[in-house]
Amino acid sequence: RAAATPQYLAGLNPEQREAVETLDGPVLVLAGAGTGKTRVLTCRIAHILSQGRARPGEILSVTFTNKAAREMKLRLGQMLGQAVEGMPWLGTFHSIGGRILRTHAELVQLKSNFTVLDVDDQIRLLKQLLQAENIDDKRWPARMLAGLIDGWKNRGLTPSQVPPGEAAVFGNGKGGKLYASYQERLKILNAADFGDLLLENIRLFREHPDVLRQYQGRFKFILVDEYQDTNVAQYLWLRLLAQAPSKPGAPLSSIIPGHTGSPVIPERVDSPVIPGRAEGTNPESGDEEDSLRDSGFAPNGAPRNDERGVAAQAELPAHPGMTPPSQPALAAPPKNICCVGDDDQSIYGWRGAEVDNILRFDHDFPGAKVIRLERNYRSTGHILAAASHLIAHNESRLGKTLRTEDVDGEKVTVTGSWDSEEEARAIGEEIEELQRAGNNLNDVAILVRASFQMREFEDRFVTLGLPYRVIGGPRFYERAEIRDALAYLRTINSPADDLAFERIINVPKRGLGDATVQMLHDHARKRRIPLFEAARAVVETDELKPKARGSLRDLIINFDRWRARREVTTHTELAEIVLDESGYTEMWQKDRSADAAGRLENLKELVRSMEEFENLQGFLEHISLVMDRDGGAEDEAVSLMTLHSAKGLEFDNVFLPGWEEGLFPSQRTLDEQGRAGLEEERRLAHVGLTRARRRAKLYFATNRRIHGTWSTTIPSRFLDELPAHNVEITESKGGSGWGGSSGYGPSRFDNVESFGSSYTTPGWQRAQANRARGQGGRQENRQGQAGGGFNEDPSPFSGSRSDAS
Ligand code: ATP
Ligand code: MG
Repeated sequence: RAAATPQYLAGLNPEQREAVETLDGPVLVLAGAGTGKTRVLTCRIAHILSQGRARPGEILSVTFTNKAAREMKLRLGQMLGQAVEGMPWLGTFHSIGGRILRTHAELVQLKSNFTVLDVDDQIRLLKQLLQAENIDDKRWPARMLAGLIDGWKNRGLTPSQVPPGEAAVFGNGKGGKLYASYQERLKILNAADFGDLLLENIRLFREHPDVLRQYQGRFKFILVDEYQDTNVAQYLWLRLLAQAPSKPGAPLSSIIPGHTGSPVIPERVDSPVIPGRAEGTNPESGDEEDSLRDSGFAPNGAPRNDERGVAAQAELPAHPGMTPPSQPALAAPPKNICCVGDDDQSIYGWRGAEVDNILRFDHDFPGAKVIRLERNYRSTGHILAAASHLIAHNESRLGKTLRTEDVDGEKVTVTGSWDSEEEARAIGEEIEELQRAGNNLNDVAILVRASFQMREFEDRFVTLGLPYRVIGGPRFYERAEIRDALAYLRTINSPADDLAFERIINVPKRGLGDATVQMLHDHARKRRIPLFEAARAVVETDELKPKARGSLRDLIINFDRWRARREVTTHTELAEIVLDESGYTEMWQKDRSADAAGRLENLKELVRSMEEFENLQGFLEHISLVMDRDGGAEDEAVSLMTLHSAKGLEFDNVFLPGWEEGLFPSQRTLDEQGRAGLEEERRLAHVGLTRARRRAKLYFATNRRIHGTWSTTIPSRFLDELPAHNVEITESKGGSGWGGSSGYGPSRFDNVESFGSSYTTPGWQRAQANRARGQGGRQENRQGQAGGGFNEDPSPFSGSRSDAS
């Protein structure tokens, strides 16, 4: 080998270099944000290849998103100065699992061309099964069952392994049976759902040790990014692959850890819930997830309801170091596996368990070398200090040192605005300023806690003509529930809008299925009239069955009434009336699936957004302008995303709006998960801050406008937890401005005072909390509206929570 150090190694610090060059045996890189963990992984692949230790096809590298995988491939090419020949197995858990599954589909009763169902298909299928079992879909919504099944799959549980107690929570004890028949139906349809890509892969490995051996032999090196957020199924899958292949014919127990000789998965013991364990939170609502899947942008393959399972709990010590692990160490010597992660960035709802995952690494992979990286290469001094100080408020963490050799740079700014509209205006102006100063918009990101917050920014950007892209999910007005609501409004506005009418004719379900719609279409085509007019005509005939005819007539009467109302009520009120009287809001209120609350929140935000327009026509025109924009087509655009989607990414300029109690930390997370939930929210804040290279800008609005009434909000406690030395409090540049003269009266000035003075003395949070307490019910109401119910998924078992708060 050439004596000269290759370029990709020369740029690394000694610890990074050790992580790259320790090719034999298990390696864990446990290090904070921006320390170069992902870079280490990329260099490691380059090193393996250039040392001739493996061919590309013998390396398995798991990234957090498919986008990250593409990026890694690109960098790899640059490092090696050539395109990588052959295909490394680079992708998310699910994309790689899917690839293996296709190759051996027949062994799990599928064909290699099996379909991967989207959520809608999944729900439709589950509805059929509910019907067949005579289970009332109103009382036991299909979406809830989908959530449960997803949760089980993410915990690696096949139908026979779901603890009876859990299976019983759905459909009067029929949950387990439904899961089993769902799996059977999938096989008949030659289909798999998202969770199957991994679960069925695990089953394949367990039931066919020869196949497992084949992959164990193939993958000479395994690399995993964002290890702190792996779920149980992913963990089990990794463990299976991470062993050296045993000899053919060796007893199964020597190949599969914990294998008891029974045909499937290791033994389970029902164990009590780990104290302090939190339910999974989810960055995104359901339809966002659809698009995550479509775009291949799956958050570590753990998109929803992931939860440390009972099976896994039994395998894991209740608390690191407290209980001896019951999962045996690997039977065969472990492979060259390298995992990188940061306990302070575990944001997918696995409190403790993720820390366990990392702490247990040494046990799972005996002889593991643990490497810590302490130098942060991403952020300036002030940003790093602020982020480190904030996360130090968490109790359950390993704790680590982080230093930077970068300049202190600009202080983290905290800006209070009057309301979210002003916040959006201020941020819009600052971005324009950055642009004028020569910054590329690709170096600018806005990270929000809840997806409904995006609406304000999208509207603002359209007004400003500022190109933006939404990452990791649909744009606000493209969400399913928003499109449904808009379809009602469009049908009112223009009875000839067939597309809109067709979209909602049977949403919520009113017995007007495909056959009815087909018949209306035939009618409309023959007579060359709009669908709505066809419906009006058909209702007068006896072509429809009495039930369908009755409900179609009701719908027409409703629309006629709403159109008449349009003359006498405001368009905002009209929207509320329509969503209410059509049963659309109720549909989501009754829906006990995890994303329902977020959808209701988005609907409220939609109605709120209408207030800014004079009438329905004006609003709909604005929407068509927004929708017309081809998001992402521009070379240069501001990135808009949730904090969850921002993991692993970095930007020069990061805007963090909405740091208010109830919104961030999320009230619902606090209510449902208490202290553990708060710590996860804090990690999320830490992830947000550590995305920034040069500028981190925090915002809070002192007022939130909900249905036309103003409510006072409290700045987030996380602001209180920032070190004063690294933070600068600035004035909002958004027109009316913080402390400006827009005439909101003295109460506004109070806010300024308590904000300003409490920073160094008693804490603005406490000061404002006292104020808020005096507001009693009104404050409650605020939290229910603004803080509750945005898009994070609670546990599927919290189905009893009320969505209608
Ligand atoms: P996160 O925890 O947020 O995923 P990370 O630990 O994966 O962060 P990277 O994204 O790999 O960190 O690196 C952060 C930034 O620092 C990147 O821009 C990377 O190129 C740069 N960097 C990492 N190591 C070095 C180094 N030795 N010299 C110069 N730049 C480096
Ligand atoms: Mg990284």
